[in-house]
Amino acid sequence: MRMYTCGPTVYSYVHIGNFRTFTFQDILRRYLRYRGYQLDHVMNITDIDDKIIRRASETGASLRDYTEVYHKAFEEDARKLRLQTPERVVRATDHVDDMVKAIQKLEERGLTYHSDGSVYFRIGGFPGYGKLSRIDVSGMRAGARVDVDEYEKADARDFVLWKAAKPGEPFWEAPFGAGRPGWHIECSVMAMQYLGETLDIHTGGVDLVFPHHENEIAQSEALTRKPFARFWLHAEFLLIEGQKMSKSLGNFYTLRDVLDKGYSPEAVRYLLASVPYRKQLNFTFDALKSAATAIERLRNFRLRLDSDTLEPGQSAEIGAIGEQALRQFESGLDEDLNTAQALAAVFEYVREINTLMDAGRFKAGDRASARSLLERFDSIFDVLEVYREGRLSADEIQRAIEERLAARKARNFSRADEIRKELAARGVVLEDTKEGTRWKYGDSETSSG
Ligand SMILES: [Zn+2]
Repeated sequence: MRMYTCGPTVYSYVHIGNFRTFTFQDILRRYLRYRGYQLDHVMNITDIDDKIIRRASETGASLRDYTEVYHKAFEEDARKLRLQTPERVVRATDHVDDMVKAIQKLEERGLTYHSDGSVYFRIGGFPGYGKLSRIDVSGMRAGARVDVDEYEKADARDFVLWKAAKPGEPFWEAPFGAGRPGWHIECSVMAMQYLGETLDIHTGGVDLVFPHHENEIAQSEALTRKPFARFWLHAEFLLIEGQKMSKSLGNFYTLRDVLDKGYSPEAVRYLLASVPYRKQLNFTFDALKSAATAIERLRNFRLRLDSDTLEPGQSAEIGAIGEQALRQFESGLDEDLNTAQALAAVFEYVREINTLMDAGRFKAGDRASARSLLERFDSIFDVLEVYREGRLSADEIQRAIEERLAARKARNFSRADEIRKELAARGVVLEDTKEGTRWKYGDSETSSG
């Protein structure tokens, strides 16, 4: 699966609405892998735009120094939310030469024009314009254009491919003058460079459908004359206490703001993942408390599985309940990632099994199937382990284990041993079993590996 995600613009801390989209993408990633797909997932980092230029110059920092701070902060937030790192994370400013080439090619095809040193894409020259957002282009005035990256909804205009530099601004040299690439061309160029001319999946928030994704399609398909993406998946908006999040309403939250109020990253992740991505998500502090309670119920169930004294034997009844729950869990996620159904299946299971345990009908031999169900659940939702600062994530550990396995296969035993030692130094203990390598944090229970 070749998948592209519009990543953050690194000019400040990322807000909770954007993290709703990134969490949806993480659930999508994990479920595709769960279903056996190999992923090549690219996410860009937008590290050049007007806001970045303005703020960097206000602080006197270079572009790279300024954006690096917020890029790092994003990575740190993503770790707390246990977002798996895409296979490739690429910066716009590392690909400017390729963007210049793409713009030249669009010029050769007669789809551009120049004005005041900037280069614009003529959307009237691309007949398919508007097909994703179904925007009406009939009333568009020829030559109406914008040179900002975000503009009014439902207002189709020629958009900027290359923006002329104003005095004192950072710039790149190009045959059409000194300037910087527009936001839209970034994504088209980086997506196709790493993933080929037609992607399997392109994701983002609904706010990107128009104009950003519409413009990505126009540029890319004008360049290749092939469909740009087979599937578009957009996460709906996040509301705060029923209202649109905005700085003026005083309800604008970054992940840091929410964690500073004492909520756990797992509760935030759970809440963000719990509503299917095509529905609006109402983020409330009550819902966050309920999320924490729901996680507690699952953790208590796991503790009970590990610590209750049980009679020997195994029950067919328990096995059947587990199979039914797993079918519900998977059919929910199969159905366009219906996370609400998947969660309901797991909680119904926990409720039934708790009752059977109380009645003494859950036997020692039933532990394995119950643990396996919890592990499957947590391979997608990933909320059972308690977050601790500086601790490696399950994803990072898994990658290290895979690297160690590859080293062993290549008979590079010293490298394999080195990886084991590196993990041990970070508090992760490995155990090689017939079923594969298991791991645990030195300070908690076993997890599968
Ligand atoms: Zn994009």
